[in-house]
This record gives sequence, structure tokens and C-alpha cells, in this order.
Amino acid sequence: MTGVPNSSTADAGPRRIVLATHNPHKVEEFGAIVARVRPDLEVIGYDGPEPIEDGVTFAANALIKARAAAAHTGLPALADDSGVCVDVLGGAPGVFSAYWAGHRKDPRANLELLLDQLSDIADPHRTAQFVSTIALVVPGPDGRIVHEETVEGVWPGRLATAPSGDGGFGYDPIFLPDDQQGRTAADLSAEEKNAASHRARAFVALAPLLSALER
Ligand code: IMP
Repeated sequence: MTGVPNSSTADAGPRRIVLATHNPHKVEEFGAIVARVRPDLEVIGYDGPEPIEDGVTFAANALIKARAAAAHTGLPALADDSGVCVDVLGGAPGVFSAYWAGHRKDPRANLELLLDQLSDIADPHRTAQFVSTIALVVPGPDGRIVHEETVEGVWPGRLATAPSGDGGFGYDPIFLPDDQQGRTAADLSAEEKNAASHRARAFVALAPLLSALER
């Protein structure tokens, strides 16, 4: 991808890119990543209406969120969507990861339900992946979308039979990444996880897209 138009280039101030999240930690995380590739771009949070995430893939949901932020702000927009995919469950929980045990979004209940569902499954069949998809949506001067693209990061591993570790969040205490020698993602320091995770891998794939955004 080369020279993707950036509708904010006409603006006087710093070039901005909006991240479709209300979470200030995510804005910080993405801000640090974007700064490495494009120090001229300022990442801002999104405070507009939240669309219904009714996609059935990570990419569909990331695009729904990025399109909404791009439409509302007129700026290039990023959005991410992620979850855990268990092979023996045909890729579930997948896009249902956040509320696998119900809409109250209880991370401990989600994790316990998943362990329970796999209680009879032997280690060789407990393979799983953390997946992170990031969407980039670029509107033109008239607000119409002129470019959209998604990238994906996959962190392969397997599910433990019992939780371990105090770090991270979500399914981290039961996810044993293949590259972490028997430690769960929750056993890793934040630095270790940030260097290896599905999100880190998606960010690597995102870098050339950011570089290609018009300056
Ligand atoms: P989100 O929609 O991208 O915020 O993430 C959806 C859900 O996927 C989270 O609520 C977690 O249950 C799970 N998930 C995504 N990334 C991770 C991770 O790095 N560790 C553990 N769980 C994760």
C-alpha cells in the first residue's frame, strides 16, 4: 500500500488518527506503537457513539468500530478486536470471548466455563490461539471511505488444565503460549507479554500500513 490519503493532512494542526476505544490505556498503548513508526501522528481516543458489534469475525468487528470512528471524526481510524480461539471448539469462544459465560462479561466465569468445557480433553488436543485483528479505515475529504484494511496477529499455544499467574487479564491464566516454556500468559511480566503477544504481532503487521499513510 502506498500513499493512502490521510484526510487530516489538510488540517493545520498535528496529523491525527483516532482509535475506536474509550479505554485510555489502549490509547496510550497504540500511541506508543504508532509513535515508533509515525512520530508525526497523534493518536486520539474516540468519544462518539458506539456501533453495535454484530460481526461474526474479529475483522468484521474491528472494521465496524473503525468505520464508525472514521465517519464520526473524519479522521483515519484504527480499531482492534481480539479473543481466544480453541481448536477443539471450532475456534470458539472467538468473537464471543468477552462474554462466553454470559453478558455480564465476568472474566473469571469465562475462564472457568472454558476449563470446564475442556475438562475431558487431553493435552495434545488443547491447542488454542490468541488472535488480535486491527482495522485501519481512511476517509477521503468528503467523508467517504477511500481505504480500509485489516491485519492480524496470532499467538499460538494451548490451554492449561488449571489457572496460573497473577498478571494480564481475561484468559491469560489458562493460556500457555508455545514460545513461553510452560508459563501461562499470566505468569509473564507485562514487558514479556507485550513483546510476544497476538497484539504485538498485529502491531508488527500494522506498521507498514501506518508508514504508507499520506504525510
Ligand atoms: P476485546 O474485545 O479485544 O477487548 O477482547 C475480547 C476478549 O478477548 C477479552 O475480554 C478477553 O476475554 C479476551 N482477550 C483478548 N485479548 C486477551 C489477552 O491478551 N489476554 C487474555 N484475554 C484476552
